[in-house]
Amino acid sequence: MLPPGSTIGILGGGQLGRMMAVAALQLGYRVVGYAPEGDNVAADACSDFVTAEWNDRDALAGFAASCDVVTWEFENVPVSTVQALPSPLLACPLRALEVAQDRLNEKNFVSQHGGTPATFARVETEADFAAALERIGTPGILKTARDGYDGKGQWRVRSGLEAGGVRFPGVPCVYEGFVTYETEFSVILVRGQDGQARFWDSTANYHEGGMLARSVLPAGALVEAQVPAARELAARVAEALGYVGVLTLEFFATRHGPVFNEMAPRVHNSGHWTIEGAATSQFENHIRAICGLPLGNTATRFASVEMRNIVGEEALGAHAILAEGGEPHLHLYGKAEAREGRKMGHVTRVGHAVK
Ligand code: AMP
Repeated sequence: MLPPGSTIGILGGGQLGRMMAVAALQLGYRVVGYAPEGDNVAADACSDFVTAEWNDRDALAGFAASCDVVTWEFENVPVSTVQALPSPLLACPLRALEVAQDRLNEKNFVSQHGGTPATFARVETEADFAAALERIGTPGILKTARDGYDGKGQWRVRSGLEAGGVRFPGVPCVYEGFVTYETEFSVILVRGQDGQARFWDSTANYHEGGMLARSVLPAGALVEAQVPAARELAARVAEALGYVGVLTLEFFATRHGPVFNEMAPRVHNSGHWTIEGAATSQFENHIRAICGLPLGNTATRFASVEMRNIVGEEALGAHAILAEGGEPHLHLYGKAEAREGRKMGHVTRVGHAVK
């Protein structure tokens, strides 16, 4: 168990790091962040923040020297950055980053553990793209294998006619068949150092333009029926990775069962509701897990919960939400610029009836 006053290092400077840091402070820890120049909103909640490139060896050494444990809030931290840190500091296995950073690795890894992804093909050339279209057909989605998020680096191919208009972007991609699903959902688990995993309830997740817009509980009968199998898969994946902390797997609930979409070796947007809606939030349990503390109860405290993302300029007037009914819990991330399509905050409403 990491004693109070110890220092947690967080790689990445976004809102996930900010909310993780708040949870760490509450438990009596210090937090030091590390990220390249940018709108590092986690810095507001850190005792110290190192602004340096991911490959700055000196800065990384200084950061490591000030930390008792290191975690990440962003799955695209370069593997070489994490490898440059002394391995005993790492709370979560590097392998989890390696797997999750590449959509092909991720699909293959999860398939090996019994998961079913959408039909997919590796696309590294124009010819591969043509062959993938031929084999898988349309509709489908071409996605960059690496560095995509919130629907970026994705091109939908609705028909054979449209395929001609989608250009292979010249970087390794995956082409996957479009999944016909009823609802999207995620399994969020926390795994302790003793290997015990706990799960939060799975919300129904609604996306707009490839980005999460809302997470809702209850998630409906179809999702509820598919959660046990999805949890089993997530637990197998976590065990295979020797994972410690919060891990998220996203699924499509189809008429033929859960189809795996992607995984994130970190706290997740679809778990923000746990701050007010669950007995222990994903952020707190992540900190507890990486510090070797007993894990908290993950049970949902209310009969219904809804989390909605606040995107772009809506944030400028977001305090007005506080005057609305339904007991809104507002979280603003303190980002300097309210750019279109940028996650600026979220609001969670919990149902009145206590579960
Ligand atoms: P991703 O970045 O892979 O999570 O994709 C973002 C969103 O695009 C997903 O949450 C879905 O709403 C949608 N999407 C991605 N892949 C597929 C697919 N193969 N079939 C249907 N919808 C998809």
